[in-house]
Amino acid sequence: MLVETFLRKQLGLKAHTVTRVEETDRFMIVHIDRLGRRLLRCGVCRQRCRRVHNVGKPREWRDLSMRKLPIKLRYRPRRVLCPRCGLRVEDFPWAEPWARVTTALSNAVARLARELSWQGTARQYGLNWKSVATIVKRTVAYGLAHRVRPPVHVIGIDEVSRRKGQVYLTVVYDLERRVLLWVGDDRTEEAVKPFFTKEMGARRCRTLRVICMDMWAAYANLVKEYAPQVQILFDRFHIVKHLNDAVEEVRRSEMRRLSQKEKVPFKRSRWLLLKNPWNLSDDQKERLSTLVQWNMPIVRAYYLKEAFQLFWFYRQPKRASDHLEKWMRSAMRSRLEPFKKFVRMLRGHLDGILSWTKSRVSNGAVEGMNNKIKSISHRSFGFRTAENFIAAIYHCCARLPLPVER
Ligand SMILES: [Zn+2]
Repeated sequence: MLVETFLRKQLGLKAHTVTRVEETDRFMIVHIDRLGRRLLRCGVCRQRCRRVHNVGKPREWRDLSMRKLPIKLRYRPRRVLCPRCGLRVEDFPWAEPWARVTTALSNAVARLARELSWQGTARQYGLNWKSVATIVKRTVAYGLAHRVRPPVHVIGIDEVSRRKGQVYLTVVYDLERRVLLWVGDDRTEEAVKPFFTKEMGARRCRTLRVICMDMWAAYANLVKEYAPQVQILFDRFHIVKHLNDAVEEVRRSEMRRLSQKEKVPFKRSRWLLLKNPWNLSDDQKERLSTLVQWNMPIVRAYYLKEAFQLFWFYRQPKRASDHLEKWMRSAMRSRLEPFKKFVRMLRGHLDGILSWTKSRVSNGAVEGMNNKIKSISHRSFGFRTAENFIAAIYHCCARLPLPVER
């Protein structure tokens, strides 16, 4: 079989053909021409068009490599007169309109960019970083326009930081399908609003049942406005995190108070206090028990934390709320300022905390995905622009479809 025939078949050409293959020292150039008088399609609506208006200047598309030589397709695009759209550039079966690489190469690059940094992907394919960035952004735009959008019932909203906590993005996940739905630039109410108005819209907002979020978050008003039927759930992960922060604050202030010699048993005690007791080794248990004998504020903080955690196991709303009430009263009597602060936060959000017994949804899955986002950011040494970071997040977490290779 001639190499021309092989390439024509591989490219799936019907109205076009490969006329010649030219080998230079850096590329293999595949010359393509129209096949006889076969009808070309409109680049916008793909309708077959009878009339060709003119033949343009040669254009080139980078394609995958054959052995070591990268392939370039060279063709003079026709402009066709489409009955629906008017005068348009024809449709290329090997590439998306305006793309400078073939769909096959673009998809190969996009697949690798889900695993590697953009820089690493570029190196692998002999492209520059910018080309990879363009390919990923176009792939994401295509994916967002063509993704399946089944009804959404349970979502989790959270934030991820960019540039070491200077700038924040808001991410929204579908917790049932465990897939990223949306990314917003910043974490303000204003920035998250488009999720409800644009991404979801009034009709899709109506199927929402539960929204899982942090107590600190500024989205509660948005939820009331756009999805009033929704049950807000302040998720377990964040509550436990605030609780652990309180323990840690007590420990730190005690450390400041103690003398150098008294500090010794408390060295590296942080994880001891924050870990769940059943995860401690024998050695750690022993250290914990000495700690507990030594210092009263730390002991109170530790036992308060442990007592709170029982809340997650109640199944009856009444019992759960009784437990919480009792716990909050004892925390208020503890003379530990960080815990009083924590209680005041709980008081303001009781509804959303008690709904745990009904829904038992947690942002735990969200944390896994947030870690994935962090690793995306790390492997690229952080993204300089929010636009690129957002594209990378969608690309790796939203399970978007790739353009179809014809
Ligand atoms: Zn058309």
